[in-house]
Amino acid sequence: MANVTSISKKEIIELLSLKGSEQIELHRKASEIRRDSVSDRVYIRGLIEFSNICENDCFYCGIRKSNNNVRRYELTPDEILGAVDEAASSGLTSVVLQSGERRDRRFISLVTDSLRIIKQKYPFMGITLSSGEQDRSVYEEFHKAGASRYLLRIETSNEEHYNRLHPGAMSFRERIRSLHDLRDTGFQVGTGVMINSPFQIPENLADDILFFQTLDIDMCGMGPFIPHSGTPLGKVEYSAEESFNLGLNMIAVLRIVMPDINIASTTALETLSPAGRESGLMAGANVVMPQFSPFSLRDSYTLYDNKPLGSEDNRGFLDSLKEKIKSLGLIPVTEDSGTSIHYIRRTQNVSTC
Ligand code: SAH
Repeated sequence: MANVTSISKKEIIELLSLKGSEQIELHRKASEIRRDSVSDRVYIRGLIEFSNICENDCFYCGIRKSNNNVRRYELTPDEILGAVDEAASSGLTSVVLQSGERRDRRFISLVTDSLRIIKQKYPFMGITLSSGEQDRSVYEEFHKAGASRYLLRIETSNEEHYNRLHPGAMSFRERIRSLHDLRDTGFQVGTGVMINSPFQIPENLADDILFFQTLDIDMCGMGPFIPHSGTPLGKVEYSAEESFNLGLNMIAVLRIVMPDINIASTTALETLSPAGRESGLMAGANVVMPQFSPFSLRDSYTLYDNKPLGSEDNRGFLDSLKEKIKSLGLIPVTEDSGTSIHYIRRTQNVSTC
């Protein structure tokens, strides 16, 4: 199996629009490719949203800086470790630390200190970080302190579209620069986009897929845009069904063109349909990220309306998630942190063609 399949923009646009039996067939094909390239193993990572304080003012995001209706919080390194303890005691060996975006030294130290104490206690814990754009030296510091994966969504690969979703203070070029710096630093690099976001046209999504290929990403986390009522884009016209279908088809097409990367089935899918997470797996995803943030803070990390909060009973929630994965004929994996096979291949420079 080649690890990159070439496909034209026109073909991608056609595949993304499939519905009904043709859509089921697309997802079946993507699942088959997943089985052949990365096996039927589904990696479970505990998601810890450790701060919702954010410097950015993205027009779509519920935790944007100028949303004054958010109770802002920041966990201490010990509290972050406490959430990791929860994940570890449930048998997980992989966590994702996510936050709003900040570049001040105090924040950077909070992240670095937390990474160090997590690694000290759990040397084998796989840590994914998702804390936005930083200087290259900061990425190096985070990597050295123990983070091995980094998720930074480009949100859209079209610069004009990007500029309609973000204020002038944010720069598409900076985001690209950050993604390259992450790769050069040695991270497993993940990016993603918002699907069916305002002003998006089908061609943009096809370009997003081609962008992922060009950037040669190791991981992808993408999900449908869902309005948040307290944001400038909270009242745009929007079809949940259309977004859901496109969300699933994006996963399937990406699996077909980049068979050996890790692809997450994201919470936004679950927001649009109760079994959305499972549908994402059936479409070709191989990673899920149940929440392990302190339960009382989860409703303060509302990126979009109706974001599910999971359960206060983390262990029970995890057990039922594992059962659901098994019922799809897939294998839930917690004892292996699930390094991206694409990353292993590209860093060992192994050609699979
Ligand atoms: N600040 C971090 C991550 C926090 S936000 C970073 O820069 O990477 C995580 C992701 O939530 C964003 O990348 C965005 O794609 C998604 N998101 C934010 N608002 C959303 C909305 N209204 N609908 C769907 N996804 C949204």
